[in-house]
Amino acid sequence: MITVTAIQAAIGYLFDPFLAKGALLAIEIAALAMVGGAILGLILALMRLSSVRAVSSAAWSYIWFMRGTPVILQIIFLYDALPVVGIELDSFTTAVLGFMLNEAAFSAEIIRGGILSVDRKQSLAAASFGMGPLLTLRRIILPQAMRAILPGMANQGISMIKGTSIASVIFVNELTFRAQQIVGQNFKFFTVFAAAGVLYLVMTSAVAVAQYYLERAFNPETERKRRPTLPALTDGVDRPAAPPARNLLWIDAVRTGDTLVPVSEDPFVVCYNVQKAYGQKEILRGIDLVIKRGEVVVLMGPSGSGKSTLLRLVNHLEPLDWGQITVDGKYVGYEKQLGGGLRPTRNLAKARADARIGMVFQHFNLFDHLTALENIVEAPVHVYGEPMAKAHALGLDLLSAVGLAAHADHLPHRLSGGQQQRVAIARALAISPRLMLFDEPTSALDPELVGEVLAVIRRLAKAGMTMMVVTHEVRFAREVADRVIFMDEGQVIEEGPPNEVLDHPKHERTQRFLRMVETRAE
Ligand code: ADP
Ligand code: MG
Repeated sequence: MITVTAIQAAIGYLFDPFLAKGALLAIEIAALAMVGGAILGLILALMRLSSVRAVSSAAWSYIWFMRGTPVILQIIFLYDALPVVGIELDSFTTAVLGFMLNEAAFSAEIIRGGILSVDRKQSLAAASFGMGPLLTLRRIILPQAMRAILPGMANQGISMIKGTSIASVIFVNELTFRAQQIVGQNFKFFTVFAAAGVLYLVMTSAVAVAQYYLERAFNPETERKRRPTLPALTDGVDRPAAPPARNLLWIDAVRTGDTLVPVSEDPFVVCYNVQKAYGQKEILRGIDLVIKRGEVVVLMGPSGSGKSTLLRLVNHLEPLDWGQITVDGKYVGYEKQLGGGLRPTRNLAKARADARIGMVFQHFNLFDHLTALENIVEAPVHVYGEPMAKAHALGLDLLSAVGLAAHADHLPHRLSGGQQQRVAIARALAISPRLMLFDEPTSALDPELVGEVLAVIRRLAKAGMTMMVVTHEVRFAREVADRVIFMDEGQVIEEGPPNEVLDHPKHERTQRFLRMVETRAE
């Protein structure tokens, strides 16, 4: 019977205003410290990831120190040291500050882990659309990193609520401290501490519930309620205002395969003595290449010969070591120095955006957390500042042009490889590209899906888009290419019309490579 009364008494203490006030204080300290700690932690995580040694070392040292010493000592130190340097804070603020500075170190590592868990190809794709580092972080990296970050941060939040009892050392009158005060007067250990325990459990459960819903919200596989995006498209009756004419042209060309722009004699992409090394390894050894407006150039060559590197240099996803590349007469991301040399522009993202070079990757690199349509409107809206409605209308048009109107609201993981690659092409076309770069667009696809992707590229080629296509599809090259360029060990070995290079290769290395590719295809 004693236990029943004890339990009743404990329940009574649950509603004791004195304890409740302590619980509220614990929540306030924990919430403020967690929010501040997460923001500081994000900054520290980015510093840790910085390529500037001094910056990453500073963050590392801070994290090393704060993780390595007890928070109770840090709080006592702040409480005693701050007044010495003339900063007078009350004990509540000191506690919040102390927990926050400590939390920042732990959050930093959790957030850094989350950022590292996102495939680097995602940021490469974002960069190719002219998205700057902060935009990429906010729109692409963090939303995907959240899944990895949330469980760790929820742990931190729960530890923090319980850990606020440490603040009693600097006389913050929180829950545990208050419970002890009551026990000190009435010696009812069980009832009072049981009530305090239940109060902690209620508070930490709230964190667990919040974690559940946040994880759901950031899980791309959770079916989101979306604004309906399809009606305007499927009936085709009251379609929104027409997108810019230039883009419409490409869309219609992709649909019909009509020739829009004949190959001209204007040089459009000019590579002059392009050299690039990674460390000691020379990857490109002086590439000279002129691609005319409207020309389709197919690049072939063994793995490691520098084809992808060359494409990445054209839209300045990587800096050149030596030589020059111009697209439509302009350097992408370089400016002339006074002495006549080139130096990289300060705002590389803007330079890439201005160049309007569409890039399609071997592994599609669609943004995994965005639907097909959202993938397409991302750059037009967030890089080029186009109104959402207009970008949507254009995106739906592009999707229907590549035969995927019905998949506008699907996330990449629900699409086949061939469909993903067609979305990726539509995404690249959405920025009204003046040049398209394809890096082995079909080599990650199952054989039966290759055709659907090549069909889109073929129509684009026929329409007169200037293109550099890395591919080993010999039949496709024969049919589509104006010129085939064969590379090996960072050099152009042989180039010419497809019937020359593919059917009568002069160079022994070209012959060997073609024999290998053709046997594989049979
Ligand atoms: P390809 O596309 O023709 O197969 P790549 O241009 O991808 O060739 O690569 C050429 C060489 O450069 C390869 O040996 C590769 O290992 C190396 N390489 C490519 N990117 C990097 C990088 N970021 N750091 C170091 N080496 C790299
Ligand atoms: Mg490659």
